[in-house]
Amino acid sequence: MSNHSIRNAISVDVEDWLQSTIDPSLPLTERFYHSTRKVLNAFDAKGVRGTFFILGLAAEKAPGLVREIQQAGHEIQSHGYGHELVHTLTPETFRQDLDRSKKLLEDMTGQVVTGYRAPAFTITLRNLWALDVLVECGYEYDSSVFPLETGRYGIDGAPWFPHRLKTPAGYELLELPVASFTCCGRRLPVGGGGYFRLFPYLAIRRGIRQVNAAGYPATIYMHPYEYDPIEFKELGYPVPFRQRLHQGLGRCRFPLKVDKMLDDFPFGSMREVIDALGDLPTHEYRIPHGG
Ligand SMILES: [Zn+2]
Repeated sequence: MSNHSIRNAISVDVEDWLQSTIDPSLPLTERFYHSTRKVLNAFDAKGVRGTFFILGLAAEKAPGLVREIQQAGHEIQSHGYGHELVHTLTPETFRQDLDRSKKLLEDMTGQVVTGYRAPAFTITLRNLWALDVLVECGYEYDSSVFPLETGRYGIDGAPWFPHRLKTPAGYELLELPVASFTCCGRRLPVGGGGYFRLFPYLAIRRGIRQVNAAGYPATIYMHPYEYDPIEFKELGYPVPFRQRLHQGLGRCRFPLKVDKMLDDFPFGSMREVIDALGDLPTHEYRIPHGG
């Protein structure tokens, strides 16, 4: 199989920047409607269908947008309900968040929700119980384990390729980590977020080629706000300088990079990519002592 025939997964976490990044108790602004439409237009222009992990709060605020995403033929899955970081929840409150978002999206779309991405990749070695709860709530695949320790999230040494994950209770869950590649002896995330915004496109292309050359699809993620370069100017909310720098840099060139990437590689939804996967290795995390 030539590596050109490997279809990669493109995914969008549909949320509002202010509420999801600054404070989950803030109301959602309307900016995400407009920027999600920009993403839809960009995908439409390239004939690409992806996966939209929609936050429950965003779906409630913009049911028309959920319909537009569905009518455009994209896969709709869950980004949870309230964007509270998973390590701040208990198994019970996490279950409520998952159930609520799943039921909401299923009622809106008439389709079963089977995939999940955690807010800010906050499933780590400290809360592996979350994987059990996901399976118990009827989720079949997950894209929440960041295969690198970043200080805030991630699990160092977690497989960087799609795999079957054995949860602590012994269930099986399909895990599709976001793309990372090896550069200068280090593994770097290339699949989205700040790295995608700041890396030159050639580095992103190299990263996806490296993942595909190993025989695996790359999972890319993005947010609507990365299509909104003037957000901080117009927001009318005092965004701290550090966050302004970290979250705002690279937004201007972001859509151009995505366009190039969609020209250079075949992309589809997570579900399409999963259906094309062959036999996968199984992985079980070891919970560290005292963890
Ligand atoms: Zn998010």
